[in-house]
Amino acid sequence: MTELQQYPPHEDWHDVTSLNAKAWPNKVEEHHSLVPTTCFNCEAACGLLAHVNHETGEIDKIEGNPLHPASRGRNCAKGPATLNQVQDTERILYPMKRVGERGSGEWERVTWDEALDDIGQRIATAMDEDRRDGVMYHVGRPGEDGYADRVLKSWGVDGHNSHTNICSSNARIGYQSWMGHDRPSSDFANAEVIFLISSHLEAGHYFNPHAQRIIEAQSKGATVICVDPRLSNTGSKAEHWLPAWPGTEPFLLLAIAKLLIESGKWQKDFVRRWVNWETYLSETRSDLPLEFDSLETALLEAYAEYTPEAAEEICGVPGYQLREIAEIIGNHPTKFASHNWRAAGAGNLGGWQTARCLFFLNVLTGSVATVGGTSGNGWNKFKPAQPKGAPALHEWNDLSWPKEFPLSYHEMSFLLPHFLNEGRGTLDVYFSRVYNPIWTNPDGFSWMEALTDESKVKCHIALTPTWSETAWFADYVLPMGIGTERHDVASFETHNGRWIGFRQPVMRRYAEIRGEKLGPDSRTHEFNPGEVWEENEFWIDLSWRIDPDGSRGIRKWFESDESPGTPITIDEYYGTMFAESVPGLAEAAAGAGKTPLEYMRDVGSFDVPGDMITPYERIVGSDSVADCEKGEDGVFRKPGTIGMWDGTKAGLDDIALADLGEGSPAVEVDGEIKEGFPTPSKKLELFSTTLKDWGWPECATPTWIKSHVHHQDLDMAGNERILLPTFRIPTLIHTRSANSKWLNEISHRHPLWLHPSDAEALEIEENGLVRITTRIGHFVIQAWRTEGIRPGVVAASHHMGRWRIEEDKARSWGAGKATIDKTADGKWKLTRNDGIRKFDSDDPDSNRIWWNDTGVHQNLTFSVQPDPVSGMHCWLQRVKVTPAEAGDQYGDVVVDTKKSREAYLDWMTKTRPGPGPDGLRRPLWYARPLKPSAPMYHAGE
Ligand code: SF4
Repeated sequence: MTELQQYPPHEDWHDVTSLNAKAWPNKVEEHHSLVPTTCFNCEAACGLLAHVNHETGEIDKIEGNPLHPASRGRNCAKGPATLNQVQDTERILYPMKRVGERGSGEWERVTWDEALDDIGQRIATAMDEDRRDGVMYHVGRPGEDGYADRVLKSWGVDGHNSHTNICSSNARIGYQSWMGHDRPSSDFANAEVIFLISSHLEAGHYFNPHAQRIIEAQSKGATVICVDPRLSNTGSKAEHWLPAWPGTEPFLLLAIAKLLIESGKWQKDFVRRWVNWETYLSETRSDLPLEFDSLETALLEAYAEYTPEAAEEICGVPGYQLREIAEIIGNHPTKFASHNWRAAGAGNLGGWQTARCLFFLNVLTGSVATVGGTSGNGWNKFKPAQPKGAPALHEWNDLSWPKEFPLSYHEMSFLLPHFLNEGRGTLDVYFSRVYNPIWTNPDGFSWMEALTDESKVKCHIALTPTWSETAWFADYVLPMGIGTERHDVASFETHNGRWIGFRQPVMRRYAEIRGEKLGPDSRTHEFNPGEVWEENEFWIDLSWRIDPDGSRGIRKWFESDESPGTPITIDEYYGTMFAESVPGLAEAAAGAGKTPLEYMRDVGSFDVPGDMITPYERIVGSDSVADCEKGEDGVFRKPGTIGMWDGTKAGLDDIALADLGEGSPAVEVDGEIKEGFPTPSKKLELFSTTLKDWGWPECATPTWIKSHVHHQDLDMAGNERILLPTFRIPTLIHTRSANSKWLNEISHRHPLWLHPSDAEALEIEENGLVRITTRIGHFVIQAWRTEGIRPGVVAASHHMGRWRIEEDKARSWGAGKATIDKTADGKWKLTRNDGIRKFDSDDPDSNRIWWNDTGVHQNLTFSVQPDPVSGMHCWLQRVKVTPAEAGDQYGDVVVDTKKSREAYLDWMTKTRPGPGPDGLRRPLWYARPLKPSAPMYHAGE
């Protein structure tokens, strides 16, 4: 790819001369330092360069970092818009404590010391009174790799809760059940066929690093195929757009798989070597000889019903197009790059099979971790060891990991209000961190009810840079830094290669560049606006408050080794990490005459060396398996690890819960000892014994599960339709974009996409108001007639509908004033008052706001719909679409939380609770944030 030309060379970054554009036509020079950091506005963690003006000492602009291996200097609009967040006049600058009723909006400014003392004391009390489960850290966008986990481990608290089950759990379990890695890492740049189940070119996962590589491949001739009921920008750029009925995508993919097998264009030798076909045959076709040649017959018979003609009827996509696509895919073995993360995966009951069926195509084409294929995140993401890591937890939190969902890929976070209602637990201290469940989650009014009930949530602390609907219901609001105001490391599987990025507080670094000597007591907040802290230092200080004298065994994990008896500094922490845990960095830094930490502060990222192509084929030396036993399946397993566990409760005490890579380091294939995959069989699992053993035998192979919004079950002749609420607006972030004026000026509407044929049938006028009725309520939105959506499906992006309930408090550029009331029949009603209006502030642009719309908060009207296997919320809604009724106003939302409860109970009946085999709560080998020690997996513990 051509290098970007306009960036100054790295050696000039400390003094870049440019002309002041505002002084034009005069030529006025100004000087900047370019300070690298990473973007915190989506999960991709692209590189940024903050341009700090030498004269004013302020950041003038933020652009891409050309040395960042993933983003290569390119950013989406949200990267440069970080500047708006820095300069936002409405951001939270000081710690605030609630003084009125929760949610009353009455606050007083407190000192950090007061806040830390109180919170630390509450946590210490919960620990001393044996209520460690009463401490919960609920994170939205982590934006960092492992620091918070390290904190909770050090506290001995199984309190990690995430947003993942409203986001990506379905895709994760689909991928993990094949290859052990829970995320795809697609080598788009070198692919010849790119298959996307999402809108990657404008908003998909790792959006900008992926989009630039997809375009790169397409310009070299790659074929792009996009499955999406909407004609997204990606669909319009693709060679093939397949607007399949939502929920039928696995059927479509299996039809393609069958065509590949029928045509003989599948990579038989790859499948023979690397797929657990013996298990597949013995479990599904014991009538056939247990030999590879039986597999073709078995597969063709298993998938006999998945014909292009049947796909045409079920999926609504022409059979001829599927034949054409199967031929294209079959003609490009090993160069098939595919991806699914949210989109169809996040939509419906059984959505997790979308990723499983998509990766089946990678397996059949031998495109697994090849050049131009799709790898596993574990091979392309680099996660350094955390200095001063505590041992595994000896706790299990049933509020997050309940028995009904033994295979849930992450915490059952969005069911928390219902669990609290059922008395499954209470929370002493609940941290919401860059997370806005009232607005983001389904069933937000149930969240509001829980968060206002002080008997259920005793103290709620919102760690956030900006006001949000959820922060309004907190007891403490503590301002945390944005992408230019904090330290984090991050690495993601953006392409074929590994890298690590370093986020740093720009003004702190600028002080260093200007020669300021930062003493050992120097703290990041001294360089941030107001009293904005960074989280790393917050956790260090809070841990010292919980354990001031070290007697609780916590303080030692936050104590300096260089200066015992004092808190560890950020420089010591990251200096140790970079020196000891990043291969190749120390050498690269020495070559540049720097320490590893100085190198990372100076460059902002590092391309970690190593060949990650087909790592499963790596030869493992016989000495590496000398202490292993070889099973009949050819897998080498170490005694004392998962694979050699004797199945007894007592035996759990002795096993190391090492990952399968450590516990089973190799597998024999064709007489050679190979590294293999991190699955129980060390192979790609066409048949998942885990799914079978844990109660889902009918789902053990790639298959289609009829969804809860299957089009043939809906009254399409009447007014039922499928609502697609899952797509992003490329220029918005979930909560934080409300504090970016540029992004809100670009995007502030989300009309309901509606096909003209549906508009006619449903008698909805052009731009008319529509009432969308869900199982628990309704909302009122404006229609947009477009042929860019499949008839029968209506869609509205989830990015809009921000609100605040006081005119002059919790203001932003994207939240409209709203009122919340209870109706006479006990329902909640949110009424939009006046959208966004001009307001007075120190930024004259706030008086130039010309738009009014802020969208409609549709998520409030969605009941929880947990997939019984993955635990993922199924976002697609079966709705009634009708013209607005008399009295309806744009933005109205009405919800009955009694119906929310009914819906929750209804979906819970679909679960198949644990314990599973051997009395376990969850398969030992399954990934889990903050994995506890092995004995805690036993349900008897
Ligand atoms: S894709 Fe955009 S928002 Fe995401 S990290 Fe990159 S620049 Fe930031």
